[in-house]
Amino acid sequence: MKTIIEPFRVKMVEPIRMTTIEERQKLLKKANYNLFSLKSDDVIIDLLTDSGTSSMSANQWSALIKGDESYAGSPSYFHFKKAVQELMPFKHVIPTHQGRAAEAILFSVIGGTGKTIPNNTHFDTTRGNIEATGAEAIDLVVDEAKDTESNYPFKGNMDTVKLEKLLNEKADDIPIVMITITNNAGGGQPVSLQNIKDTKAVCDKFNKPLFIDACRFAENAWFIKQREAKYKNVAVKDIVREIFSMADGMTMSAKKDAFANIGGWLALNDDKLAESARNRLILTEGFPTYGGLAGRDLEAIAVGLSEVVDEDYLAYRIRTIEYMVEALDKAGVPVVKPAGGHAVFIDARKMLPHIPPLEYPGHAVAVGLYELGGIRGCEIGSVMFGLNPDGTQTPAALELVRLAMPRRVYTQSQADYIIECAIALKEKAKDMRGYAITWQPKAMRHFTAKFAQL
Ligand SMILES: *Cc1c(COP(=O)(O)O)cnc(C)c1O
Repeated sequence: MKTIIEPFRVKMVEPIRMTTIEERQKLLKKANYNLFSLKSDDVIIDLLTDSGTSSMSANQWSALIKGDESYAGSPSYFHFKKAVQELMPFKHVIPTHQGRAAEAILFSVIGGTGKTIPNNTHFDTTRGNIEATGAEAIDLVVDEAKDTESNYPFKGNMDTVKLEKLLNEKADDIPIVMITITNNAGGGQPVSLQNIKDTKAVCDKFNKPLFIDACRFAENAWFIKQREAKYKNVAVKDIVREIFSMADGMTMSAKKDAFANIGGWLALNDDKLAESARNRLILTEGFPTYGGLAGRDLEAIAVGLSEVVDEDYLAYRIRTIEYMVEALDKAGVPVVKPAGGHAVFIDARKMLPHIPPLEYPGHAVAVGLYELGGIRGCEIGSVMFGLNPDGTQTPAALELVRLAMPRRVYTQSQADYIIECAIALKEKAKDMRGYAITWQPKAMRHFTAKFAQL
């Protein structure tokens, strides 16, 4: 059959409260036009993030009951560790309450003023945690990533020529090289296994550890299977193992490709670095066998990791995004192509060419989608990335709106509704206006900034 169906049945439902345009206009005003300030029960379809929003399976819910809440040496920790090492064979596995905690610990140990950390594209929390230590975060993604029309199959790839140049210039200041799979900030685009190998080869040349920001490792592995001829007949699980055999460490948010509502980890091979990380962990997260999580969370992650590499799930997951991108593209809504793994990205600069970057066209599209259809997306553009540490602004490379699909949550008719709303918004693009920021914090302003419509 041609139709790829959701490979699960619904056992429990959460009702959605329907709202009208007039209600949403009032709610937006009250929220200072920041979608992060809305109450989630005022949202019809919540595509703010795919983080921590997965539906857990019956097996995950039953594993919760088995959670052992012992302070030290809980069996739940060992279930978790075994599940991680089954896919990512690192010597040390350090649980944290989410991905950014793993980043904060890692960079508190290896960051600091004068250091530089390259990545294909740093995610916002990664960049924030690096810069908070005084270090510099550099993005070295391939040029194809900047062309939202290019159908290049691995737009998340690291530009290894630029990486080698950077290492030639200042290897002494670079403690590690990172690569993010899939490239979230760059459109959820995958990184090829060949590129991970090439990046590893450059790292080896300069004797630098390679760390993977692995939040969407399973989605990335599925893309490798689909798009990299050599891996067509290799099981996703084996692709995943090959990816991590190339790395010296990883940071992970279990809120993404582990189907958990909370959790993360830092895993690595270096004993000394692991010891420093654990010392820091005890100060900020907790004892090394629970790291800021309940035993039951560790159990949910362990089961989630075994489910996320299921190829029927991944086929449905990636097809959902493709289906939406195809429909929007056909209707003339500018979207990032090819489809990424976890989200549809609307190209707001193309949709609203009359709004300059520092009047935040992405923000205008995100607010417009909520007003029109109660859909909450997230600007990934100059609001998120435009503020420099010194308070000045530089427009982001792209002005995108991310419609992130929670895992195993929404149905195809809900996807059709999202498509209909985005097309309706495009029809009134000419009448849309930009925004000004009336208040902002010093860093990561997108979460709390206040806006006014121009
Ligand atoms: C979500 C995410 C993180 C941070 O993880 P949290 O669990 O949200 O703290 C880091 N990197 C990438 C690529 C992410 O998508």
